[in-house]
Amino acid sequence: MSVATQQFTLRQANQAFLAQPRKMLIDGKWVAAASGKTFAVFDPGTGREIAQVAAADKADIDLAVAAARRAFTNKAWAGMKACDRERLLNRLADLVEANADELAELESLDNGKSVNLARYVDVVAAVDCLRYMAGWPTKIEGSTIPVSVPYMPDAKFFAYTMREPVGVVGQIIPWNFPLLMAAWKLAPALATGCTVVLKPAEQTPLSALRLGELVLEAGYPAGVVNICPGFGETAGAALAAHPDVDKVAFTGSTEVGKLIVQAALGNLKKVSLELGGKSPAIVLPDADMDIAIPGAAMAIFFNQGQVCCAGSRLYVHKSIFDKVVDGVAGVAKGFTVGHGLSPSTQMGPLVSEEQALRVASYIEDGLKSGVEAVTGGRRLDQPGYFVEPTVLVKVKPEMKVVKEEIFGPVVVAMPFDDLDEVVTQANNTIYGLGASIWTRDLGKMHRLAPALKAGTVWVNCHSVIDAALPFGGFKQSGWGRELGREAIDLYMERKSVCAMV
Ligand code: NAP
Ligand code: MG
Repeated sequence: MSVATQQFTLRQANQAFLAQPRKMLIDGKWVAAASGKTFAVFDPGTGREIAQVAAADKADIDLAVAAARRAFTNKAWAGMKACDRERLLNRLADLVEANADELAELESLDNGKSVNLARYVDVVAAVDCLRYMAGWPTKIEGSTIPVSVPYMPDAKFFAYTMREPVGVVGQIIPWNFPLLMAAWKLAPALATGCTVVLKPAEQTPLSALRLGELVLEAGYPAGVVNICPGFGETAGAALAAHPDVDKVAFTGSTEVGKLIVQAALGNLKKVSLELGGKSPAIVLPDADMDIAIPGAAMAIFFNQGQVCCAGSRLYVHKSIFDKVVDGVAGVAKGFTVGHGLSPSTQMGPLVSEEQALRVASYIEDGLKSGVEAVTGGRRLDQPGYFVEPTVLVKVKPEMKVVKEEIFGPVVVAMPFDDLDEVVTQANNTIYGLGASIWTRDLGKMHRLAPALKAGTVWVNCHSVIDAALPFGGFKQSGWGRELGREAIDLYMERKSVCAMV
């Protein structure tokens, strides 16, 4: 592992963006918090403050929800022709693309991830998600249904279903892919005609606020998109509990997901949840090592391991265990670790001091209970929130490092003997978000894929996500599926119309 030291200068547009305290977007205008409060945003690569951002609280959420309600009921959005909604979604995609370099830099600075990753994964995927969802408004259909009503023998009916947007939607997102998560949330909701109040994570509000500027530039009607940065316990909780919000869509930890469900009880708003994971990567003895070793490494180390579906439990057949573990450790040792804006950086810092402490304490806890670090195992002794990419072995199934989501660059590797055993171990978790199988044996692949309790099973790849492919969790990894046509369903009601003719 080497450490990047290069210096960097921010683009002028981003310097200007960060120079002013950033306001929140309510009803088409940038406004300060009703309380006047702001909070600090930090550069994870140095720990230095980079911006002040308006801190939304209940009063601001009330205003934003009222604006979203007006924009929903005045039909400025839901009543707009489907082809015009498509055009506006495409316009937003074009604007994000036109500002891709600037957005990537802002994202890297705010989150810590490498600027190349931000540019060629986060921004590219956000544009793609907006474009994919832009295709839907003109394709949302109901169906005609042959209604028999056997207890009314002489009556005839014409019955059909139609789709309607669910209404005002509260959306709460995490910090690991801030812009992309905003796109995953906004794009399908807007495609259906819903209006939105979005709360980005307190650690990473900047790209969502820049996206808000692009929403205005694209010409969306006032109140359709409202963006309220703030803390989870205040702004987030007020949004999830709000009696005039029809649906809450949440991405974040399973722990907070349960609070969202409780908060939603008051008005029984619809809830969709994308939560945590502890996803297995399973390497069979016949796997192509040139694919499986770097693949298993990137399954965990991509985005510093801060990926909900990260392959954080690595199960390797015992005949190739040492080879694969040494190979994955070798990939980890080869990373250039450094500030996200340094072009040579392959692995950046974690998002926050809190997250670095949390990840380091998981590693420490493991090492104390007899776990061995093949590589890594320490927080780096330098400014910023850097934790070494870490491979742990000699773990036991009941250990915290095996059971709990660490959400950092830490993988636990375990040997297995046969397929039934690895299925039992892989499914021995409260989570069920992703799983990967590394093999050239089609028969084994087809035995494993249906046996694994996960929303997505990848074969010879991991964390491959596409706007057209539904994504979400079994068990405590969530409710509902984002992306694909399922994402449209999340934001729509289905109405049955039954006419006696
Ligand atoms: P988190 O602590 O659960 O926070 C997620 C969001 O919820 C943030 O905006 C947070 O606000 C807000 N929040 C916190 N407490 C709240 C409350 N009481 N009421 C309403 N909102 C509240 O998660 P995180 O640490 O940011 O993100 C990491 C987690 O997200 C991991 O568990 C990861 O697996 C999961 N994740 C899942 C997916 C998926 O698609 N399944 C994708 C990405 C991440 P503040 O940050 O301002 O406190
Ligand atoms: Mg938080």
